Amino acid sequence: MHDTVESLLAFLNASPTPFHATANLARMFEDAGFTPLDERSPWALEAGQAYYSTRTDASIVAFRLGKDLPERGLRLVGAHTDSPCLKVKPCPDLSRQGYSLLGVETYGGVLLNPWFDRDLSIAGRVSGVDAEGQLQARLINFDRAIATIPSLAIHLNRTANENKTVNPQQEMNALLDMERDQNFRDLLLEQVAEEHADAPLAEVLDFNLCFYDMQAPALTGLNRAFLSSARLDNLLSCFLGAQALIHSDTTETAVLLCNDHEEVGSRSDAGAQGTLLNDCLARLVPDSAARHQTLRHSMMLSVDNAHGVHPNYSDKHDGNHGPKLNAGPVIKFDADQGYATNSDTAAFVRWLARQGEPIPLQSFVMRADMRCGSTIGPITATNSGIRTVDIGNAQFAMHSIRETAGVQDVTHMTNLLSRFYGVAQVP
Ligand SMILES: [Zn+2]
Repeated sequence: MHDTVESLLAFLNASPTPFHATANLARMFEDAGFTPLDERSPWALEAGQAYYSTRTDASIVAFRLGKDLPERGLRLVGAHTDSPCLKVKPCPDLSRQGYSLLGVETYGGVLLNPWFDRDLSIAGRVSGVDAEGQLQARLINFDRAIATIPSLAIHLNRTANENKTVNPQQEMNALLDMERDQNFRDLLLEQVAEEHADAPLAEVLDFNLCFYDMQAPALTGLNRAFLSSARLDNLLSCFLGAQALIHSDTTETAVLLCNDHEEVGSRSDAGAQGTLLNDCLARLVPDSAARHQTLRHSMMLSVDNAHGVHPNYSDKHDGNHGPKLNAGPVIKFDADQGYATNSDTAAFVRWLARQGEPIPLQSFVMRADMRCGSTIGPITATNSGIRTVDIGNAQFAMHSIRETAGVQDVTHMTNLLSRFYGVAQVP
């Protein structure tokens, strides 16, 4: 348990972007003996073996291949690699009042206020050409506080504590340096050379870069009951899914799918609305009738964090549906199908939690007078036809630059996912 939490904190810290998260997940699978597969090549698959494949460097599918898929189906766990953040604009260089700043773009539903006055770094993927003129991409991570977004002093905005609204176009340009001549692309070229001394780029053509907070993930609370970090939504689920798959000794077909772009609607080649899962299933079960049969024997646990009831804002939850941190995985319901859970799939999870040492479970439904969010569950269910249940660990401050979850829930969710991968038959 202690080791898992330590590894989780290290994973969160080393994964400031979906690209880094995917590379780190791939490394975990590689170290555990999973064979990498390239979508551009034929796949020679063997029952009893384990594999993984990435797409766009920001999404990953990993699986243990069992036998007799049309009769036994898949046990699929889904999560997402992306988190709301600030990104560097394509032409970011700004010069104002003797300072160099970078223009930022928001990605997903960012909670903006917590981004002020943080020690920010930048990481992501840089694309360009090498000395031979070949197109190449490199991951970079400045890994030091190279930028900050200073807030306006309260003396200059006396109503800041009553009504602080944020205009990201005007108020969130990131302070990089005193005025400088070098443009941002040249800075990137230097950073690529520093991190990839044996494979530098000759020219930067484009980039996909996220700002992130330098504050490291930590155990928090008087008795370390909590863990606080950026990107718990949803790297927590990616990590726990990967741990469960790696340590599972199941003979069934067990799959982990981590998509990019959930926070912006999942519409992309790497998102849950894309073809990654179905393309992969077509390789596992090439015959379409047999694949159809496989899907009807399959089940998906879509794992994405849930809103824990906040002790200072408890009226934001329904009185009977206020999940607590450290009290077990949350089954998420929405009559309008913002979550894919239905009474059958929820019953399956409740049954699963009782097979062996009981795993505590909680239920969440939004207040009837508030709008529900959504996640990859309904999208993957729509796209693939697999029965799905949306679950997740409770957390505070979803989409903030620093989120908080429960340490005990790491064990509860890992146990649930491990049990799911090993279950002999999906009803
Ligand atoms: Zn999420």
